[in-house]
Amino acid sequence: MRKGNPIVVSAASGTGKTSLCRRLLQTLSHTARSISYTTRIRRGEEVDGRDYHFVDDGQFDRMIEQGEFVEWAQVYTRRYGTGWRSVQQQLDEGLDVLLDIDVQGGLQIRDKLPNAVLIFLLPPSMAELRRRLENRAEDTAEAIQMRLAKARAEIRQSRSYDYLVVNDDFDQAELDLRAIIRAHHIGRNVPAALVSELLES
Ligand code: 5GP
Repeated sequence: MRKGNPIVVSAASGTGKTSLCRRLLQTLSHTARSISYTTRIRRGEEVDGRDYHFVDDGQFDRMIEQGEFVEWAQVYTRRYGTGWRSVQQQLDEGLDVLLDIDVQGGLQIRDKLPNAVLIFLLPPSMAELRRRLENRAEDTAEAIQMRLAKARAEIRQSRSYDYLVVNDDFDQAELDLRAIIRAHHIGRNVPAALVSELLES
């Protein structure tokens, strides 16, 4: 059976990554979401084991020591990590695995899982990103300044990603993401045996 591909989607907060990932999971077949571990507190409607595995610092430390993470990173004041076992299992089942993780994590995935495709979502402009963050009305003015500074740092690192997609229009961004994922499939999954066969005949 063919193995699945890891698909990393990263973006600065406010770029629309969560909604786009949700849409992709609804519309792409053979694609599963990776459920991360985090030390942050559960928010509102979030469910443990569905949105994240919520763990304490001690448990996170133990998982690091035992090599249970493919990647992990500190994001703001909390830690987030992707578990080896579940991702490997999903890939072995032939599922593509969507990883909604930050840039630090994305770059670790590139080293550990070389068949991953790394996609970074960009906002159309910093002014638009600021407007979206202000409209969400989740953060204080100070927190918005902090998010914008972090966005700049992340956008700088996005140059190491395979693809950049601008989320100006949601539907267009979804189409672009689907096209990249499809192309990645076609490009990576030609059976090596066929190439040998063609060369030998
Ligand atoms: P939030 O706390 O808003 O759910 O997520 C904050 C940030 O952490 C987002 O950019 C999200 O993509 C990132 N994140 C979530 N899970 C992981 C993970 O397992 N590893 C890394 N490196 N980042 C993650």
